[in-house]
Amino acid sequence: MFMLGYMQDWDLRVSHLIDYAAREHGNREILTRWADGSIERTNWAGVALEARKLAQVFARWGMKPGDRIATFAMNHHRHLAAWYGAIGCGGVIHTVNVRLFDEDLIYIMNHAEDRVLMYDAQFQPVIDRLKPHLKTVEHYIVFDSADSYGALMADADGQFDWVMGDERDPCMLCYTSGTTGHPKGVLYQHRSTMLHAMAEIAPSVFDLSCGSVLLPIVPMFHAASWGLPFAGAAAGVKFVFSTTNDAPTLHGLMLQEKVTHSAGVPTVWLAMFQHLDATAKAGRDASLGKLRLVTIGGSAAPRAMIERLMKQGVRVAHAWGMTETSPIGTMGSPTPDWDDLSIEAQIDIVCKQGRVPFGVELRIVDDEGTVLPRDGTSSGKLQVRGPWVVKRYFKAEADATDADQWFDTGDVSVIHPDGTMQITDRAKDVIKSGGEWISSVELENAAVGCPGVAEAAAIGVPHPKWDERPILLVVRKEGAALSEADVVAYLAGVVAKWWLPDEVLFVDSLPHTGTGKIQKAELRKQYKDYQLKALRAA
Ligand code: ADP
Repeated sequence: MFMLGYMQDWDLRVSHLIDYAAREHGNREILTRWADGSIERTNWAGVALEARKLAQVFARWGMKPGDRIATFAMNHHRHLAAWYGAIGCGGVIHTVNVRLFDEDLIYIMNHAEDRVLMYDAQFQPVIDRLKPHLKTVEHYIVFDSADSYGALMADADGQFDWVMGDERDPCMLCYTSGTTGHPKGVLYQHRSTMLHAMAEIAPSVFDLSCGSVLLPIVPMFHAASWGLPFAGAAAGVKFVFSTTNDAPTLHGLMLQEKVTHSAGVPTVWLAMFQHLDATAKAGRDASLGKLRLVTIGGSAAPRAMIERLMKQGVRVAHAWGMTETSPIGTMGSPTPDWDDLSIEAQIDIVCKQGRVPFGVELRIVDDEGTVLPRDGTSSGKLQVRGPWVVKRYFKAEADATDADQWFDTGDVSVIHPDGTMQITDRAKDVIKSGGEWISSVELENAAVGCPGVAEAAAIGVPHPKWDERPILLVVRKEGAALSEADVVAYLAGVVAKWWLPDEVLFVDSLPHTGTGKIQKAELRKQYKDYQLKALRAA
């Protein structure tokens, strides 16, 4: 006999999150600090109303379930309302990374077939450049304009019922542009997003509750701001958004708004420490106020950073994940014997990337695919699976996983006997600077277009502020009188400014594999501890 359990149907749809936050935590504040220094305050009820108004407008414009609505914006409460509005009208919110350069942006927005594009006024020049190339965008909305976003709000009353449907419907699209080829889209489902949000609020993950005051420094255009706009609603947190990420602004907000939780890439904290030192010297408040949990991820958090924060009495959670994992894969949290450990031993633990929350499975395999033991010494390719891990990239024809749903992360790690994962290397050929990807391959391809360059290899070298910066190893064409300045000037015309190599080193030859490919792994090993000239001087 076929039998179902007799409990209620309640599809895991994202609109439940905003309904819950508005109903149970309606007065909990959401604030935005705009670039001009002004602070605008609303709350969950206000964001929910704005989201309903937007959904109403989108429905009027004929958005159908699954249609993509894009944003090109920094962190603010209108951006948050746009997420819930787009999803609530049955659509898919597509957060476009503002740091990419034009060619990638055009590719991504055409590939996504975005029908609406909502952006911040500061990006008007970029949008003007892109507009002639965007084939599918019908409506442009400027968030911080009374004539645009303001007019839409004035024209809607928010009487709108969320579009409901299957929990496996898509709700969000995020592109990742790490490795070779075009950026790839990860299409989150309502169900995956809800499970991820519910997992995130746990004490061993982001430790969120309605008492939390959360300042997400990770941008909403990068890996869904680590899912915090969803988890924050599930917990009813107070959100503090800032459209700029300079240390004085963030520190000021931390003190003034009594921020308890922050999350971001390591780069942010280096600038913050400098600011705190200067603040202390000037005799002003250099404390971190009520801050009690700092989550750092996106790149390995350096030991000195963890140490300084922990010695200041702040808990540090070290997170590992990727856009393909929604993005939480692992998170560090206190072990059962935590209180008996010395601070040095505690720091040792935090330096590793943490353990999986319920829902994620990890394993490491060797080159033949044999599963390696969790012994803390065997190092292998890190694979992951679970309900919020990618199965197939958007519009791809084949799955991105093996037959058992394991997704290969491109990271290399060890797993310790207690389940703690520790990243030891990277198999993918990329450079991560300030939390954003630089594709070594694209940089190399660009470089060989420069007259006088015979061959080029881009590799990441350590940098105290940006974590990694690219250097370019160049073999000159015979007889070519090519200088570093020539190469950089050429590249400046074809890649984004922050992709330009910090140094160009001319070499006689580059190592090759049997099949003629440049041995990047070998070069990375050789230059692992390379010190940039600019840093040597300092
Ligand atoms: P995000 O930067 O938000 O984590 P991306 O998809 O841009 O997401 O990048 C994911 C990659 O970043 C991982 O595969 C890994 O190489 C690197 N990464 C993320 N977190 C860490 C970490 N804590 N330590 C080392 N590398 C990390």
